[in-house]
Amino acid sequence: MNGKTVFIVEDEKDISSLIALHLRKAGFIVLEFANGNDLLNFLKKKIPDLIVLDLMLPDIDGMEICKHIKSEQVYKNIPVIILTAKAEETDKIIGLELGADDYVTKPFSPRELVVRTKNILKRYDFSQEDNIQEIGGILSIDNDRYEVYVKNKKIHLTTTEFNILKILLSKKGLVFSREKLLDLLWQGQKAVIDRTIDVHIKKLREKLGEAGNLIKNVRGIGYKIDE
Ligand code: CA
Repeated sequence: MNGKTVFIVEDEKDISSLIALHLRKAGFIVLEFANGNDLLNFLKKKIPDLIVLDLMLPDIDGMEICKHIKSEQVYKNIPVIILTAKAEETDKIIGLELGADDYVTKPFSPRELVVRTKNILKRYDFSQEDNIQEIGGILSIDNDRYEVYVKNKKIHLTTTEFNILKILLSKKGLVFSREKLLDLLWQGQKAVIDRTIDVHIKKLREKLGEAGNLIKNVRGIGYKIDE
């Protein structure tokens, strides 16, 4: 779970710190929020991998926050674990009404919360596999994580190289001229010459190794990736 980000929304500092401590020990990056508005504002800047949400907050009811998250297209895939003092509310929490992914009842064991967090993230990782594109049986692209693999070995690409690959894959078989690629990459913001693309593609092919042959040069026109 290294590098995954968890947001904790809890006004009780002791509880928040305790959860944060345990999650950090487990390798998570943790940000703490003492109220709902701080969370909602920050979500506009960064989407976490999971949210631990207390129901009793000083400003917005945690239930409202959960409903909001689960009803917004950009947020609804963030798993939410609810902290609640009331065990009897669990049906509501997990049910359709709130759409939370799991809950723990206070007082709870921080270790158990860490285990639940890991389990949910594993489940989500699995369900997001359909956002991985596979090409030619050897190249795969994880569009959520901006990661590229050749025969399951991770390849480190620059942003430009990754974007070129994505553009070529967006319409397989279609030839993209250098001019078109430049336009899609930089929208005319950057004063670059056509040959820049050739340099990037050359590097991209080298990094992709045997999968590099999937990128075809159509002489005098540009580049494409065939099915
Ligand atoms: Ca609270």
